[in-house]
Amino acid sequence: MKKKNLFSFIVMTLLLSTLLTMFMGNFKGSTAIEEYSSSEFVSVISGDTVKELNLRIENGVYIATGELKDKTKYTAVLPKDDDFITKIDNEASENGVKVTYDQTVNGSAATSALVDLIVIVVGVMALLAIMKKFGPGKGGNNPGKMDPNMEVDLNIKFTDVVGYEEEKQELIEVIDYLVNPDKFNKMGAKIPKGILLEGPPGTGKTLMAKAIAGEAKIPFFSISGSDFIEMYVGVGASRVRDIFEKAKKHESAIIFIDEIDAIGSRDKNKNGGNSEREQTINQMLVELDGFNSKNQSIIIIGATNRADKLDKALLRPGRFDRKILMGVPSNDDRELILKYHANKRKMSEEIDYKAIARQTMGMCGADLESVINEGAILAVRSNRKIVIQEDLVEAIDRVLMGPAKVTNKYSELDKKITSYHESGHAIVGLELDNALSVEKITIVPRRDAAGYVAYTPQEDYSKFKSKKAMFNELVGLLAGRASEETFLDDVTTGAHNDLERATAIARAMVTEYSMTDVFETQLEDEDFKSGHYNKPYSEETAIIIDREIRLIMKNGYDKAIEIVTKRSSDIHKLAKAVREKETLSKKEILEAIQ
Ligand code: ADP
Ligand code: MG
Ligand code: ZN
Repeated sequence: MKKKNLFSFIVMTLLLSTLLTMFMGNFKGSTAIEEYSSSEFVSVISGDTVKELNLRIENGVYIATGELKDKTKYTAVLPKDDDFITKIDNEASENGVKVTYDQTVNGSAATSALVDLIVIVVGVMALLAIMKKFGPGKGGNNPGKMDPNMEVDLNIKFTDVVGYEEEKQELIEVIDYLVNPDKFNKMGAKIPKGILLEGPPGTGKTLMAKAIAGEAKIPFFSISGSDFIEMYVGVGASRVRDIFEKAKKHESAIIFIDEIDAIGSRDKNKNGGNSEREQTINQMLVELDGFNSKNQSIIIIGATNRADKLDKALLRPGRFDRKILMGVPSNDDRELILKYHANKRKMSEEIDYKAIARQTMGMCGADLESVINEGAILAVRSNRKIVIQEDLVEAIDRVLMGPAKVTNKYSELDKKITSYHESGHAIVGLELDNALSVEKITIVPRRDAAGYVAYTPQEDYSKFKSKKAMFNELVGLLAGRASEETFLDDVTTGAHNDLERATAIARAMVTEYSMTDVFETQLEDEDFKSGHYNKPYSEETAIIIDREIRLIMKNGYDKAIEIVTKRSSDIHKLAKAVREKETLSKKEILEAIQ
């Protein structure tokens, strides 16, 4: 029964969207589709933004339709001029756009009107059917019984979200309110209406939301922002209305909006914005302000990795006014998460989870779960029944960098270049005081790296980044290139990513932290960096910024050259050792340069 409902929902949605597409094809002017003039279209097709192009002749003109790389649909009416179309076709092929031609549709006015009529009738019928099935007024009056599309595993509990103890403590209060609203209402306590879970992808936000539902055991309605992206105008807003409608039928309920930034941000870069998003946000605001929590306890939980992108109106008091940060886990929490997922597998008793945690700095919960999974796969490949330490060590590299490339042959020259480049990083990293310390060096090529040096955070290091620490980090990044230049007769493209990251550090030092001799106010904030505003300073200041960045980069590079030159014998030794062994732990690095 449940399956059937879901199935018919999918079929209906598909049907409706197909119909809507046809509908819009017939009556131009929908806002969900980009419309270009023929001259605009020439420049659009020469840019690198179009994915596919379909051309058809209709009533004596060419109709171009298709999809941009960002999945936006577009349409353009083009003159029936063969030279013009040939030009468009050539441009398209040059830019790798997939071009298709449709059979000429040259229907008479009468048949076309008939088609329109059928489309409308069927469309309205489908719409009515959907409204009847999923609209308000049905299936919601039974507390505890959930909509089949909004099911959640109520067995997930707080203990399944490892770490975040303080955050859970804060949420327990909220759950208490959901379960015993009277107690809180009698005291007149102020209860949050909306809670925002914020953190990078894979830190367990969705998991946490499910755990809240599992702990509270109350109806849980969930939608994901990404579901809305491909929808047509009006559907997003009506789904928001719908879900609130359903939740309001219960005394207490949780509404979970996953990836809320996908709907909750107005895209300022696009001319006129996306009216679908506008409508959805507006609907959400209406709903948030609309329900009162006197006799009801409904809480909305949103999850996002980009709270800064959210429409500010959503964050005002009485809306999503409580924020729970779910950051990347600490060293200790990583160890616990690893152990939690390891518990479901057969692991060797000898595994040193502390060591594995140390080597997985920066990884989120989802990555750590992958490390355990990959480790288990590697164990199976080696015909072992249990996972051992080495499996996990290899698994870390795989999760970080993709599987080792065995097919691409690695030339001796590449090996030599990489060994000097990485040794430069490692030796300079050992020499300089930095928040990070060298953990290992490897020249096993992976997805997009020829090799790399892994770092771990130094224990007891300040949580602030000092000017000196930032500069030293930059020197470490430039050390690969410095080593190439000092010990090989040429430099390579291998430093591409290093240069990018070093430049970002130098730029931040100048524009965000005023860590230069010319003291400046904070010049570039998040809004500027996300491209929402023009630069908030004059051309003269821009020149000063550029000069300061260049100066920092040059000083950093000079320093890197100085260190690799001073320690040239160590670099030769380490480069040789790493060519022989391919991967060296910190202990082996220190032995190699004895
Ligand atoms: P997000 O929603 O923040 O992107 P998810 O909740 O989808 O992250 O996490 C994906 C998976 O990673 C989870 O289902 C879980 O298996 C694992 N995971 C992430 N964080 C944790 C954690 N703190 N404890 C245990 N497992 C975690
Ligand atoms: Mg998620
Ligand atoms: Zn490098």
